[in-house]
Amino acid sequence: MHSHFTSLLLDLKELSISNIENVQDDFLIHVQPIDHLQTCPQCQGTAVIRKGCAYQRRVRHLSAFGRRVFLMLPAIRLFCKQCEASFVWQYTCVMPGKRYTIQFEESLPSHVVGATVKQASKQTKTPKTTVERVFKRWMESECKHVQTVCKKQAMDSEKLVLGIDDFAIRKGHTYNTGLHDLRGGTFLDVIPGRKLEDLRAYYQENPQWKTLQPAAVVMDLAQGYHTFIAEVYPSAIRIADRFHVNRYITEALQVVRKQIQKDLSSRARQQLKQNFRLLGKRADQLSEKETKLVHQFLQYSDVLRAVYNWKEAFITWYDCSSSHALAIKGFARWIEQGENIEHSAVQCCLKTMKNWQEEICNYHHLRFTNAAVEGRNNKIKALQRRHYFTRNPRHYKQRILLECNEEMIRC
Ligand SMILES: [Zn+2]
Repeated sequence: MHSHFTSLLLDLKELSISNIENVQDDFLIHVQPIDHLQTCPQCQGTAVIRKGCAYQRRVRHLSAFGRRVFLMLPAIRLFCKQCEASFVWQYTCVMPGKRYTIQFEESLPSHVVGATVKQASKQTKTPKTTVERVFKRWMESECKHVQTVCKKQAMDSEKLVLGIDDFAIRKGHTYNTGLHDLRGGTFLDVIPGRKLEDLRAYYQENPQWKTLQPAAVVMDLAQGYHTFIAEVYPSAIRIADRFHVNRYITEALQVVRKQIQKDLSSRARQQLKQNFRLLGKRADQLSEKETKLVHQFLQYSDVLRAVYNWKEAFITWYDCSSSHALAIKGFARWIEQGENIEHSAVQCCLKTMKNWQEEICNYHHLRFTNAAVEGRNNKIKALQRRHYFTRNPRHYKQRILLECNEEMIRC
């Protein structure tokens, strides 16, 4: 009764427990196969006899109560009278010659996702080399699975919306491009580089992505991306990412702020400098105290106030244009508002806005942004801080794809 119960607990139906030992901090579970004999692996015959037990195999199994568990498996020698083959007992819970059960190895990768091999090794009290070997093999197959599922979802998606954006491998050094399915919420692929020729070369080698039929693609204002997307997905609507576009406006606002700051008293200058971020923040997300400060800052200069209102008007335009047609009209009005501000930073920004007018207004066709992409880019940043594994580009890519599609992982 007791051992039957423990067998269930261990979920190893081929074994019965004969004894449990507690050695230092580990559990050693002595087991026996429930069956008395096994068929001959050579002739499949049943004329088999037992020839004793050579030794005990010590095999690591799933931990219990925070302690390591080892199964003590007898290496039972068998002999086939029919074909005269000698062989040892084959356990289904562990592969021949292995020191870990299949269940144990399958449990390891989940400790590494979101952490490092070193941390997982410490947590599971397993040698680093073992964790690394198991994890790499798992990553290879799991990545293939995850990518296949994500790809199929994108292929089958009605009105697929893609997002592309770059992320730094090491800031200022090299860049990669991420390809995202915004509607499906998945990370599809990592493309090395971010230049037009990099993207073209990658699609040449990976033509499966050419067969996607996106209704729209969201991206920043990099010309290379727009040229490329217009080439490979000519019928897709190209949308300039709202948050990238907004950054141009807040940058112009900060240029103006820096300039007027110079003529202020030292106390006012200090205060404005310390709170410069408040100007960039949406007015409706400021606290009462912050609103007061912003009002105070806007008293300093007519130009600053005009630019601030112009920035806020753009947020309203994004939030409140009720159709694409109305958005185009509203955009023209907003451009006009900017043209009345006499400042080179604003005029320079307006030039960019006018150049990208169509792509900016396209937002109001589908209202998708690359916000999820930014979230994943932060995940990649954290991943890169934990590791510096760029030596092996295949592992690097697999790791990113798994980490960014965590909800698709089967463990
Ligand atoms: Zn045989």
